[in-house]
Amino acid sequence: MTTPAHDTTVFGRLRADGAEQVLFSHDARSGLRSVIVVHDTTLGPALGGVRMHAYEDEDAALDDALGLARAMTLKASAAGLDLGGGWSVIIGDPARDKTEEVLRAHGRFIATLGGRFIPVNDIGTTQADIGVLGREASPVCDSGDPSPMTALGVLEGIRACLRADGADGSLKGVRVCVQGVGNVGSALAELLAAESAELVLADTNPARAAEVADRLGALVVAPEAAVHTECDVLAPCAMGAVVNDVTLPELRCRIIAGGANNVLAAPGHAAALAARGILYAPDFCVNAGGLVFLEEQILGHAREQAEQRVRQVGARVAEVIAQARRTGTTTTEAAVDLARSRLRTARSPQTASSV
Ligand code: NAD
Repeated sequence: MTTPAHDTTVFGRLRADGAEQVLFSHDARSGLRSVIVVHDTTLGPALGGVRMHAYEDEDAALDDALGLARAMTLKASAAGLDLGGGWSVIIGDPARDKTEEVLRAHGRFIATLGGRFIPVNDIGTTQADIGVLGREASPVCDSGDPSPMTALGVLEGIRACLRADGADGSLKGVRVCVQGVGNVGSALAELLAAESAELVLADTNPARAAEVADRLGALVVAPEAAVHTECDVLAPCAMGAVVNDVTLPELRCRIIAGGANNVLAAPGHAAALAARGILYAPDFCVNAGGLVFLEEQILGHAREQAEQRVRQVGARVAEVIAQARRTGTTTTEAAVDLARSRLRTARSPQTASSV
């Protein structure tokens, strides 16, 4: 059956995204309204964030959940994890509407999925909130902040990019601009400082930027200056769509590799970066360290083993760059191909050799 080009029905959007299941939930007593997307469970249970946000409308909430769930499927698959992709959103202002009743109601709806969706905190929720969900649903990811491991994976991804760019992978004297020094960005800045990189930091919260810069001896630039700061590596660690039609001509870096999700505003920007000679480490590939760590926690493995696996993010980034160069595609296309081919193999092992 073919899908009309712009089928905006709910099932049309599920088909376009390849999503398995969407659960819309309402709890009259607490006022909860939530959407849970189980995007793909071919490789394992769908792990994804719980985002609480005052969405403009229900369509915006569904769109966000579908897009983020799909990205989780790609991330888990490209990283070689036995996890699927999913996401959930609670519609509401976390400052005003987040109550124990709302969280527990969301937890009860997650529980109806029988372990097909494993929640972790995201924007608008904390690990303590996920602990509250855990009173109703199991398993949940509520122990151990994944951000330092996301940062460690990004560090190894940057090293892989430097090597692919002809350097030896040493960070000494390499000028890195970290855009956003929150959980991931500050941890990345610390790792880079420990390897004597030259740091430029930017954050919309000036006090936070100043605190991290003082501690690490870094330079601070205005948030809007980060994208046109002259540097070897631009590491986006805040919001997405950092590379867009406006910023593209202004970029003055050789490499882009950071923790942020959805760095490219549109798929076509991957080719535009390549045309400008800027090496791009695909976001879902280079920021997978936190997800690797969460799988290690679910498996009950020790931290040292988790760290070792997280460091392999560098090898994945190197593999994707090499594949892109071999096939004349962009690094993003190579990373998506890597993720999809693993999914195809898992879906039909008997035809694996022909994939
Ligand atoms: P965070 O909220 O702790 O940090 C984000 C920081 O960016 C904040 O300090 C904020 O003030 C700053 N910021 C916001 N807009 C900015 C702008 N325009 N310019 C400069 N700074 C700006 O979030 P986080 O957990 O560090 O996550 C950062 C990014 O990484 C997000 O896109 C997130 O989705 C992604 N990510 C995080 C993880 C993880 O393990 N936490 C894993 C994968 C991807």
